[in-house]
Amino acid sequence: MINEGIVNISYIIATILFILALGGLSHQETARRGNWYGIVGMAIALIATVLGEVTAQYDKLIVALLVGGSVGLILARRVQMTQMPELVAILHSLVGLAAVAVGFANFMDPGRLAHYTGVELTIHDIETYIGVLIGAVTFSGSVIAFGKLSARISGNPLLLPARHWLNLLLLLGSIYYGYEFVQQSVAGGGMMPLVIMTVLALLFGIHMVMAIGGADMPVVVSMLNSYSGWAASATGFMLGNDLLIVTGALVGSSGAILSYIMCRAMNRKFLAVIAGGFGTGGGAAAKGGEDQGEVQPIDAQETAALFANAKEIMIIPGYGMAVAQAQHIVYELTRALRDKGINVRFGIHPVAGRMPGHMNVLLAEAKVPYDIVFEMDEINDDFPNIDVSVVIGANDIVNPSAQEDPEGPIAGMPVLEVWKGKTTIVLKRSMATGYAGVQNPLFFKENTRMLFGDAKDSLDEVFKAL
Ligand code: NDP
Repeated sequence: MINEGIVNISYIIATILFILALGGLSHQETARRGNWYGIVGMAIALIATVLGEVTAQYDKLIVALLVGGSVGLILARRVQMTQMPELVAILHSLVGLAAVAVGFANFMDPGRLAHYTGVELTIHDIETYIGVLIGAVTFSGSVIAFGKLSARISGNPLLLPARHWLNLLLLLGSIYYGYEFVQQSVAGGGMMPLVIMTVLALLFGIHMVMAIGGADMPVVVSMLNSYSGWAASATGFMLGNDLLIVTGALVGSSGAILSYIMCRAMNRKFLAVIAGGFGTGGGAAAKGGEDQGEVQPIDAQETAALFANAKEIMIIPGYGMAVAQAQHIVYELTRALRDKGINVRFGIHPVAGRMPGHMNVLLAEAKVPYDIVFEMDEINDDFPNIDVSVVIGANDIVNPSAQEDPEGPIAGMPVLEVWKGKTTIVLKRSMATGYAGVQNPLFFKENTRMLFGDAKDSLDEVFKAL
């Protein structure tokens, strides 16, 4: 309906807005603005595509947009903060599925052979093949990640015998069928190799994510994020849509950078994570329930007294703070303590919670000022000067066995060294382990006190006692 020039200009504007969105999202102060850039960019992209590229069957398109939009709206309204990571995983799976669907539709398009010939046809076929391949891996991998993050599937890594050989076999199979596909496509065939490769890719996605252990899931989530971008980019090549190519590349590369950052935070090598097998347990700490001594409980009154007499307090939030929705009372408490002249700060581990930036989002929601929220590297050396460290529903990220047990599943992962402070108070409901399924020697240390109960309830009581 609108001419190509306007469509192209709209695409360029949308691309710029997406880049501004990514830039905005890299700082808490500008994140909200970044989100708006993204929303406006996406709206422009959608309108320009609908008006510029679609030429017929508007009725079906509108029905599809309404159905898809409503499902998205309902999901976004219903989802709890604690379910966010699962939602993100399942949304990635949809990107993968869309790439597969577009790939097959493109391949089955009767006009394809009339439109492309010779080298062009081969290039188009390779684009289709790669798009379907990445899409299928993203789809099945994200479904398994969804299962693991929502605890529908065990977080333990599934380690098949000769799993690396199996992966290699799937890879070689995909290359072989790619060759077959391109050969047969010229003669009007090719469906069989495409279907076989899709099945292989689906198996590969399942196998890859099943083999990854609990504590390494953050890397996988950001890696699937990256894959979903490359899948979209490949779809852009198939459809000859520049905006989709660029947008996919932005998502793909930012996801890859995030994976790299997460790997560094976990002290893991990217390839080693993909190959899987971390988080298998086997170290002394992994055996859990064994005798590590007695823990020392504390009650809300005693906690309040400790707080009141402290000069330096460090709060370490973890997944349990999200579960308890304790961020608001955490902030009220922080404000009350800071009003008394106590220096209260927050220490954020890069993989705290269940998604990158999880804790920052919660603290921002509760309006905690950014200048008292620090990253692990900024404050890890400060613990010897801290009077009271308050661990709110965190577990793996403060587990000393990461340093002390070289055989354990979280060995080598940098952790917040709270035990070096004078006193540590751990708020949790029971002696249950965290996401990685490892018992935590911190709870048994001489200077650790356990404040058992739901984090929000406990903090409410502490606040009253103060
Ligand atoms: P953990 O899962 O290690 O520990 C959370 C603790 O919170 C549990 O031990 C639990 O103990 C406690 N808890 C749960 N609910 C409540 C509640 N209502 N009140 C008080 N306590 C509660 O979380 P961490 O944040 O320490 O570590 C994150 C883990 O998740 C790491 O292993 C990380 O690798 C992994 N992960 C991180 C992702 C990310 O991107 N950030 C993504 C996927 C996984 P109890 O049941 O006794 O209350």
